[in-house]
Amino acid sequence: MATPQPIPIAPPTRAEASTGNATDPASPRHGWLVRTVRRWFDTGVGVASDASSEDRIDWLRAAPFVAMHLACLGVLWVGLSPVALGVAAALYALRMFALTGFYHRYFSHRTFQTSRAVQFVFALIGASCVQRGPLWWAAHHRHHHRVTDTAADPHSPAIHGFLWSHVGWFLTPRHFRTDLSRVPDLAKYPELRWLDRFDIAVPVVLALVMYGLGVLLQHVAPQWGTSGGQMLVWGFFVSTVVLFHATVTINSLAHRFGKRRFDTRDDSRNNVWLALLTFGEGWHNNHHFFPGSSRQGFRWWEIDLTWYGLKLMSALGLVRGLKPVPAWVLAKARS
Ligand SMILES: [Zn+2]
Ligand SMILES: [Zn+2]
Repeated sequence: MATPQPIPIAPPTRAEASTGNATDPASPRHGWLVRTVRRWFDTGVGVASDASSEDRIDWLRAAPFVAMHLACLGVLWVGLSPVALGVAAALYALRMFALTGFYHRYFSHRTFQTSRAVQFVFALIGASCVQRGPLWWAAHHRHHHRVTDTAADPHSPAIHGFLWSHVGWFLTPRHFRTDLSRVPDLAKYPELRWLDRFDIAVPVVLALVMYGLGVLLQHVAPQWGTSGGQMLVWGFFVSTVVLFHATVTINSLAHRFGKRRFDTRDDSRNNVWLALLTFGEGWHNNHHFFPGSSRQGFRWWEIDLTWYGLKLMSALGLVRGLKPVPAWVLAKARS
């Protein structure tokens, strides 16, 4: 087993400690292969990597991610029905909102407050997106803001190229780990640490629920023309893969294509198409200039679906303290 490593958040378990440590040694009792496969299910399992492989894609570790893409080819066999397409679209919308409203604007930037129960529910929905747990996501995103478009930025297209910033960086040993020192405010919640450690659990449950829903509908409403396999492929695999690529356009395309309203020290852009696709995240130059606002579309015409959703949740009493855009920020805008 891994040797316990001290980290500043108390009291993590032995396995959790290893997720935040770069030199966790692999035990001779366990082969590297076995430990890597175990890590598909438990990210707390430590695997030693030397300096030369830290920034190379770990293909064995990445196998489930690749398999998820290949599973989309199942559309060739399972066919399509309006109900399967509807479920896929609804899950895209709900999970995009969880990612932008909570993984990003709440966990990463703390731009509003909520109860522990609502925090957990949206952490759970966010965890179903196969974009790792909330601690991993927020820790990397906070780092991105600190070092945007420098060599230390894990996903700067100007430095590392489009493909790496879109889909390469997070498949490396260096960025597999969660640096808990970047998220002490989140790491104090054991339920969030659990979601982060067993980050495959919620996606597996969602996949099983999709399959079960398809089987159920096949029996109770055969006229809808769906099945377990069809609902699994469309509701889980296609929806999740499209959601993933839409999300990471903000790392790749939104630092390349669009307008720059603010003179930030990075290459962030405002892009209406990306804003529509990602429910408001495409106003990325706005966001990099002032990340402290719950709102990313700063003008009334800058469509920001997540902001509208958060306003609705605020009216319902589910969240509070939404942070608006200060007047001094708007005064600095070039357009
Ligand atoms: Zn950015
Ligand atoms: Zn951000």
